[in-house]
Amino acid sequence: TETSENRPFEADVSRLLHMMVHSVYSDRDVFLRELVSNAADACEKLRYEAITSPELLGGDAKLDITIAADPEAATLTIADNGIGMSRDEMIEALGTIARSGTRNFVDRIAQAEGREGAQLIGQFGVGFYSAFMVASKVEVISRRAGSDEAWQWASDGKGEFSVSPVALEQAPARGTCVVLHLTEEAKSYAERWTLERIVKEQSGHVPVPISFIEKPGEEATSLSDGAALWTRSKSEITVQEYTDFYRSVAGQYDEPALTVHFRAEGRHEYTALAFVPGARPFDLFDADRKGRIKLYVKRVFITDDAELLPRYLRFVRGVVDSADLPLNVSREMIQDSPLLSAIKKGVTNRLISELSKLAETDAEAFGKVWENFGAVMKEGLYEDFERREQLLSLARFKTTASGEATRSLKDYATALKENQTAIYYIAGDDATRIANSPHLEGFRARGIEVLLLSDPVDAFWVASGIDYEGKPFKSITQGTADLGLIPLLDTDAAPSSEAGEDIVALIAAMKDVLGDEVADVRASDRLTDSAVCLVASESGPDRQYERFLAASGR
Ligand code: ADP
Ligand code: MG
Repeated sequence: TETSENRPFEADVSRLLHMMVHSVYSDRDVFLRELVSNAADACEKLRYEAITSPELLGGDAKLDITIAADPEAATLTIADNGIGMSRDEMIEALGTIARSGTRNFVDRIAQAEGREGAQLIGQFGVGFYSAFMVASKVEVISRRAGSDEAWQWASDGKGEFSVSPVALEQAPARGTCVVLHLTEEAKSYAERWTLERIVKEQSGHVPVPISFIEKPGEEATSLSDGAALWTRSKSEITVQEYTDFYRSVAGQYDEPALTVHFRAEGRHEYTALAFVPGARPFDLFDADRKGRIKLYVKRVFITDDAELLPRYLRFVRGVVDSADLPLNVSREMIQDSPLLSAIKKGVTNRLISELSKLAETDAEAFGKVWENFGAVMKEGLYEDFERREQLLSLARFKTTASGEATRSLKDYATALKENQTAIYYIAGDDATRIANSPHLEGFRARGIEVLLLSDPVDAFWVASGIDYEGKPFKSITQGTADLGLIPLLDTDAAPSSEAGEDIVALIAAMKDVLGDEVADVRASDRLTDSAVCLVASESGPDRQYERFLAASGR
């Protein structure tokens, strides 16, 4: 169908657009970074496809991005000669929300109150649709590489968009051109110094060159050469440059908490530049648990879908550039390549050792990292046996002795009581509730430290038969407490756990009444003030783990 057609946006897109248009975001600059990054992605996709289909490049192998302003008409155009979009791709890409993470994110923004929502958008950006923060109308003209059709998409962001064919003379020879009709308040985005400032700040390290045309008829001047930052040597790169690059590669606007940049030489040659974000990425708890490290081969972007890091490090952002992988490797084959496993191992080891170093040299900074990502890294305790020891020594916990701070297992080990045979923990979803549990009474009275575990993943790793320096992890809500060998701190308060005659009679009566409802009734060292508590049996799952299994339908 070669005619113009109006189509409704998917409902979630309409919601998102409504939020874009009607909220006042303090930092609208992010729209440009989103559009430039799409243009760069399109160039990188073409560069990749051209490895196997060089004819796609036609006579024009120099990929670039041009930002053209027209202050008088109040328009701003972002053009690239990348892969372009067919009609169907346009309808799909610019009418729906593709990634589930983005969809959840939109829900969160909608639920957050004004300022918090603005911060969320400012921190992560929301892709193409952010154009409507500054434009009352957006036109996208695109011609897919190798195609002899060109299409135009247009919308005022109010529920509908149109798609219509464009004569080839009016279309770019290849790629995409996004034209923004700026709103009155956003007119400054057609001015030279504003644009220069934002591009340098946000997109200076995009690996595709960017040039600028100040007004119609002017020559293009270069804003950024598109050189890959990671190829430069560490000593020549400033903290600000790293931060800018992190922001453009991660799609986040915070400061990285840790930057790891190294070149591996010898058997495998590659460069890695990886960042631990300063804030949680919004898709951290997505079901697919995918990482987003970008894989390059000799500076050509290949994929961000190769699993370059274990899942429990999926919050790490950055690039790996391999010198050894063949350029024409297919994305499917990469996953099984032994080279990739070697890279994965090397980068993972390096990241973990840098995290350990940070934990030693700057406990506060590491504490922040653990607060953001500890719940994810703990997945490694049962998924990565090889690095379990290292991960256990990185782990930080709230305990009955930690107060506001956190404690490591090493700290815990130095505070062990004589005759203490296990590392005790209590697990639950509500941190306050578990800290006030009656199960803790007998442990508090003996000065025995108990780990307070409130992340959903906790129930899982403690149940995986793990130990620390020969001491097993033991739930205090399960089995017998075995505290008889450890004396009470205040012996006056000592209730005897030796069951006297009265107790024996009481227990018999209780068993009679409760019948099959309980497996056993017994006297316990566990309590000092409360009369009774429920515990799980020694051999079965812990109570929190039982709930976890029930909730996940297992
Ligand atoms: P994301 O970049 O995270 O996929 P966006 O909302 O920024 O999300 O863009 C949505 C999709 O629109 C892209 O995945 C891409 O398929 C398409 N797209 C946007 N801009 C361009 C462009 N300049 N060239 C080719 N495709 C584009
Ligand atoms: Mg994008």
